[in-house]
Amino acid sequence: MKALLPITPEVPIEPPLALLAELTHRCPLQCPYCANPLEMERAATELNTATWLRVLDEAAVLGVLQVHFSGGEPTARKDLLELVRHAAACGLYSNLITSGVMLDAASLAVLAGAGLDHVQLSFQDSDAVQADRIGGYRNGHARKLVVARLIREAGLPLTANFVVHRQNLDRLPEMLALGQEIGASRIEIAHVQYYGWALVNRAPLMPSRVQLEQANAAVAQARTDLRGRITIDYVVPDYYAARPKACMGGWARRIINITPAGLALPCHAAETLPGFHFPSVRTTSLGAIWRDDPGFARFRGTAWMPEPCRSCDQREVDWGGCRCQAFAMTGNAAATDPACAMSPDHFMMADAVAASDAVAAADGPAPDLVYRRIRTAALVR
Ligand code: SF4
Ligand code: SF4
Repeated sequence: MKALLPITPEVPIEPPLALLAELTHRCPLQCPYCANPLEMERAATELNTATWLRVLDEAAVLGVLQVHFSGGEPTARKDLLELVRHAAACGLYSNLITSGVMLDAASLAVLAGAGLDHVQLSFQDSDAVQADRIGGYRNGHARKLVVARLIREAGLPLTANFVVHRQNLDRLPEMLALGQEIGASRIEIAHVQYYGWALVNRAPLMPSRVQLEQANAAVAQARTDLRGRITIDYVVPDYYAARPKACMGGWARRIINITPAGLALPCHAAETLPGFHFPSVRTTSLGAIWRDDPGFARFRGTAWMPEPCRSCDQREVDWGGCRCQAFAMTGNAAATDPACAMSPDHFMMADAVAASDAVAAADGPAPDLVYRRIRTAALVR
């Protein structure tokens, strides 16, 4: 059972459920919807192995249950195997979030042997040509199909992740079929969330309303057809919602995010917020950060909320939505998320949707994509 941390007079602070360990920003792919920041960390500024090992120890002591090794591409870290082994020794459930293109049978076998619990493999499309175009990586899709089989042969449970947008959403039924073919126990269909590089590419990626309605219907049908066999997670785009999502399960409530350089964040996009000086795990323990850091406390709970959130019966359901999206669109991180129909800024979402629908109606070529570019070369052994 999780131990509760010391309780403040007003708000009990429970330990985070999960640690999102962004081991590196390096990645051989160049997805234009990548949630990584525009200013990416180079290898030289990444945390070293000893610090990550200490962070895993501190996470376990804090009461964290799961660690998600992410990036960038986490298999670009030569010490991934050591980190997985240590997570297992600490009793942490470990999930590898990967594009898969740097994995092979040998590396998967050693990762499974080290105690890795689960793999989430990302796909850019069901169509190989289009997948390789979006990922900016030749033969990447074919490689992923091989790696999906190797993951299953290594005895690891597999989630197939498909990021969907205007340019691939019409192939959603094929993506759902592909997830079944490769033996995924879970299929995640995630609409692009417009942070980081994705915000730069919002115009060419935002789906039309018609596409979204068709996608909703396809997911609903697949959930019925696959009930009891495959779980389907569906992340809808904020821009078409009437209510925001509970971003990260609420600010500093469920997840703690560590960047490649060691900054501790309540959300992977929180570095974009001005006036915050988030602490580094190089100098501060995870427990002290979670309990005491003013940046983590800033939007925790409901006391910070403006109207209409303050008096809304959904305030402990969605926690006012996403602070980073509120800032990106309104310039005020403490504003109600514009995704909410009750936000005075909701018109900004509606304007973006109308612009997207107009592009779709014109049926012309989509604006060019801006590709994320950073290179790496390493393989887990
Ligand atoms: S470029 Fe693509 S594969 Fe690489 S981290 Fe970003 S979204 Fe993931
Ligand atoms: S007003 Fe605030 S709490 Fe209520 S639904 Fe909208 S974002 Fe959520």
